[in-house]
Amino acid sequence: MATFLGVSPSRTVKVRMVEDELLNGATRMTPGAMLEGDDPEIYLGSSCLEPDLRQYILAHELGHWHMRAAGWSLPHLMEEALAEYLGLCFGPPGYLRARIEEIEREQIEADPAVLYLDVKQLAALAPSDRRRAVLSAFALARRIGFQRIPELAAAGRTSVEELHAAADL
Ligand SMILES: [Zn+2]
Repeated sequence: MATFLGVSPSRTVKVRMVEDELLNGATRMTPGAMLEGDDPEIYLGSSCLEPDLRQYILAHELGHWHMRAAGWSLPHLMEEALAEYLGLCFGPPGYLRARIEEIEREQIEADPAVLYLDVKQLAALAPSDRRRAVLSAFALARRIGFQRIPELAAAGRTSVEELHAAADL
């Protein structure tokens, strides 16, 4: 994963399984959460008791951790899309293909406008709208090229406008 992103892992990260209630006060099945700071930790919720989901979610969260450790500043949903790509790639076989088929089946468009959404705005959306925004960002990242995003991030060319241009829309 570090090789794909072109970053070098400089620190260790702790991974903990925790009760879902400890993950941002969540009350339902939760995937992972990542804390930043001098002593970063990845918290995995009850979904991760299932081995395939654990592999996928842990890879997703490690993706976030690598990107933060490298000091990248991608728009929220672009970082999310790249983390998701890594989760799907390093997750169980077939996950990535299933996601791409889902996007094609539902005719999700790559919409650069979703990159303006921050965490709070995204959380305020209805679940179905949030899901479409996340999938749209994934479609956008795919259009830019997943391997190209780390290059843009390393060069600091990650404004919404620059990503929009990179997608050639
Ligand atoms: Zn994420």
